[in-house]
Amino acid sequence: MDTNVVLIGMMGSGKTTIGRLLAEKTGMEFIDLDELVERRAGMTIAEIFQGHGEEHFRDLESQVLEEIASSRHAVIATGGGIVKRAENRQLLRDLGLVVWLDAPAEVLAERIGEDPDRPLLSRSQPLKKLTQLLHERRDLYAETSHIHLDTTEHTPEEIAARILEELHERYKDEEEDVFATIVAIDGPVASGKSSLAKKVAKRLGFMHIDTGAMYRCVAFEAMRRGIPLDDQDALAELAHSLDIRYVEQPDDMPGRVLLNGEDVTEAIRAPEVSRNTSPVADIPNVRAELVRLQRQMALRGRCVLDGRDIGTVVVPEAHWKFYVVASLEERIRRRLVQHQQEGHAVDVERLRMDIIERDRRDRIRTHGALRLAPTATILDTTGISLEEAVEIVAALVGGSVGAPS
Ligand code: C5P
Repeated sequence: MDTNVVLIGMMGSGKTTIGRLLAEKTGMEFIDLDELVERRAGMTIAEIFQGHGEEHFRDLESQVLEEIASSRHAVIATGGGIVKRAENRQLLRDLGLVVWLDAPAEVLAERIGEDPDRPLLSRSQPLKKLTQLLHERRDLYAETSHIHLDTTEHTPEEIAARILEELHERYKDEEEDVFATIVAIDGPVASGKSSLAKKVAKRLGFMHIDTGAMYRCVAFEAMRRGIPLDDQDALAELAHSLDIRYVEQPDDMPGRVLLNGEDVTEAIRAPEVSRNTSPVADIPNVRAELVRLQRQMALRGRCVLDGRDIGTVVVPEAHWKFYVVASLEERIRRRLVQHQQEGHAVDVERLRMDIIERDRRDRIRTHGALRLAPTATILDTTGISLEEAVEIVAALVGGSVGAPS
């Protein structure tokens, strides 16, 4: 599904709470427009109103709305008065499914209570002000929204569930289409899944998401910062704070991995980092954070993901699931060549023990263990070249999605 969910409505209607819940449940990104405005202005909304007036606030609001116009797969909570400008109403509808969270003024007043940060509420008579604002805006909310929900009798969980149902109903064909363009490749250490994923992605014009690189980045950064590898909370916090990006390269050049803007493509492949990555990947909260990001990227569609739990946990709905295997000797040989090419000194016996140990850990971890997904196709690459493996996968997927093969 390639759409956004936009929540509109008065202050106190639950846009932020419900928005966060929806984002959590779906893996969609959460965008709080008021927060973006505050960040851009370097002051709170109350300060903007007091210092510069409402029109200035509305200008900032329109600017950030335009900036997020290219968002995909996000839940966007808006400010209550955003619908006042006609151009904003159009922009909101262009973003995706617009949901009006409604409630009578008395209910809103009760929910808001005494909140000094609500600049449009004259503190003496909030109910009167809310009634008036609601009266002024009702038609605008109605004109902008696709769905109107009265939140009075419902918990945020119930409202979020209701919106999810609606989303599913409206976009189920599109959701199916997206899953048909997601290729999940899992397998043990050095089975060739990353090289395969990379080449298949290039061939199909898809994005390659190397999930192992994300776990490696966390381990690498933890080592640099001296965070102990058994400090679960600090590592989960670190996973949450890192900005990890993939940069595609032209032709056959390998893609780059950027960690907070720094190119760490080679550094994260060092044997020492490999060794430390498995214990970091054991930590449930590290996994939860990275799985969330991976799923978010995957649901944009047209991508190949490789890892251990892609077909079982990250996107079990993917239509294309491959489980790549190769004999231990073959895997040792491949990793040896790779390390030598990358200039890392390696001892063969040490490498053998490392691979066996990492496989063992990957298989026994409580969350996201390496397992064969029920509908995955097993691809044994022992006796075949990388090109042949690419041929097999690209022909299957490409033949179906109509990508160049
Ligand atoms: O695939 P790669 O060898 O780069 O992965 C590095 C480590 O990250 C693996 O040994 C595994 O412990 C962990 N990993 C994981 N789940 C994934 C991908 C990698 O646990 N989806």
